[in-house]
Amino acid sequence: MGEHIGPNAFAVRELTVQSGGSFARFVREARAALLALRGFFARTQNQYTRFNYLGEWHSHPSFSVEPSTTDHQSMIEMARNPEVGANFLVLMVVKLDAAKRVLGSIHLYLPDGTVSAGELLVQGQDP
Ligand SMILES: [Zn+2]
Repeated sequence: MGEHIGPNAFAVRELTVQSGGSFARFVREARAALLALRGFFARTQNQYTRFNYLGEWHSHPSFSVEPSTTDHQSMIEMARNPEVGANFLVLMVVKLDAAKRVLGSIHLYLPDGTVSAGELLVQGQDP
């Protein structure tokens, strides 16, 4: 979940953390994610044009932070899904390097299927 802070610039304000697992766990965690989103909207006074769901994130702890083919396909499907109704979605993939610095990638997915790479800046960390 993030804040629109300028032209083509967004700040990640809150993250939800989920773990993989069974379908039952997925359902519980989808419910938890929905509650997290509702809480975020309440804390940001329902200013949806400024604060909203940005997309998904996960880590690739031991390999490249570039999205996998499956990552791209999943995000393209979500962005194209009229039931999702998103103007755009973002995928952030991160990992820590040996010095515990955050490394990551950002990709933007549009409903027309366009995929663009963005620039991830980590606050308090030199680019
Ligand atoms: Zn991935």
